[in-house]
Amino acid sequence: MKAPVKALKALRETGVTIREATPDDAVGGVPPRWVALPEDTGEVAALMRVSAAHDLAVVPVGDGTKLGWGNPPERCDLLIDTCCLLLGSGSVAEHSSGDLVARAAAGLPLDVFNSMLSQFRQELALDSTLRAGTVGGTLATAVAGPRRFRYGTARDLLIGITVVLADGTIATSGGNVVKNVAGYDLGKLFTGSYGTLGVITEATFRLHPIPADRRWVTVDLPAAAEPGSPTAQAALAALDALVAELAASQAEPSAIELEWPDLTGGPTVSVLVEGVAADARAEAVRKSADEYGNARITTEAPAWWATPPGEEVLLELRVPPSAAHPALRAVAARGLPARVRGSVASAVLLVALPGDVCEVEFSGFVTSVRDDLRRLGGGLTVLAAPPDLVRGIDRWGPSGALPLMRRVKERFDPGRRMSPGRFAGGI
Ligand SMILES: Cc1cc2nc3c(=O)[nH]c(=O)nc-3n(C[C@H](O)[C@H](O)[C@H](O)COP(=O)(O)OP(=O)(O)OC[C@H]3O[C@@H](n4cnc5c(N)ncnc54)[C@H](O)[C@@H]3O)c2cc1C
Repeated sequence: MKAPVKALKALRETGVTIREATPDDAVGGVPPRWVALPEDTGEVAALMRVSAAHDLAVVPVGDGTKLGWGNPPERCDLLIDTCCLLLGSGSVAEHSSGDLVARAAAGLPLDVFNSMLSQFRQELALDSTLRAGTVGGTLATAVAGPRRFRYGTARDLLIGITVVLADGTIATSGGNVVKNVAGYDLGKLFTGSYGTLGVITEATFRLHPIPADRRWVTVDLPAAAEPGSPTAQAALAALDALVAELAASQAEPSAIELEWPDLTGGPTVSVLVEGVAADARAEAVRKSADEYGNARITTEAPAWWATPPGEEVLLELRVPPSAAHPALRAVAARGLPARVRGSVASAVLLVALPGDVCEVEFSGFVTSVRDDLRRLGGGLTVLAAPPDLVRGIDRWGPSGALPLMRRVKERFDPGRRMSPGRFAGGI
């Protein structure tokens, strides 16, 4: 029997539903052979044991909304689709409302999870986006929306996680029975791991009561004129002053977001205040913001809130919070039509470039902005880009943590079968 036939037979013998992959299942252009639809953690473990025995490369998939992020895998035999996963109890989520804690199966879409919790006036304090990913995908990509400023990211709200490792071992955070992963904080490791360490099957989160009320205060700042000109410097300085004032404000904003669709025009800043007396606190924010432009209060978020500024060519910039202003200057100085959006007070910004940017311009932009950010103590990651554009570019950029990350990968996946090559340094 040929190797793939044997492997398929062994996969089928697990009793898990397996189907042939179609071109739509490709991950970053790499087609898998098969797609598996396990229904619980035990079935994922059985699939992983077969994959280890037959040297199959495995990629986990949630909603597929960010499957193009990261490097394409070096090889891909089996997609493990988490859509049908259930908890041991047979449900998709378990909620202890009295303890403000809930457990969810990894494949549960976050918006469905939050609508279940909302019946108890509780929520997982992440932001709803237009295309909600799953619990597992949100952890694996470590993406967070505007409210990271107040509540932190999914990783900060995570209190427990269950994963299946490359050899089929089931490991749960807090438990130290698994010899090869004893001592590791699984939650921290698996957040942002892009499927390279194992498959997340369950996660337990700390919840918050849904705030009694919400208001957004939005202000358009004056145009920056020519990038690099004295007026542009003044515009950035005004933005800096406003953000510093808001971040320290007694109105305690939950989010301070920047929208800058055209760096030769003016930026927009929008602030979310939540909870009791949101109205009065929004009024206090409006008064401060009014000194910088015409501020308005709304009960709905701006249309751009919690969405990426583009999909096709998307970069993430991170710097220490005090360095948001020079980071924006670094982007503006390149003179490309960039659209910037993100959590300006936390200095995590997303930059979208037009889909028709040429390879030379793109690589010049990535290299030079990355150099500037490194001097500021930050970095740049290429989240999404067409394959032609990223040829020859390191999507992740240099990282001092690489030797440590390589050691962790070696511990968890010595055979390099979990999403091989997707992460920084070809991990
Ligand atoms: C600017 C921005 C802000 C956002 N803010 C929020 C927010 O605040 N709240 C929110 O709900 N969403 C937010 N999102 C969207 C959300 O983060 C993504 O949709 C989600 O991370 C992707 O989930 P998915 O199920 O589609 O994952 P997929 O696209 O299927 O997979 C993404 C990656 O995760 C890996 N992966 C998927 N599932 C698993 C698993 N179970 N185990 C291991 N690896 C896995 C995949 O292999 C792949 O590498 C935001 C998105 C953006 C761009």
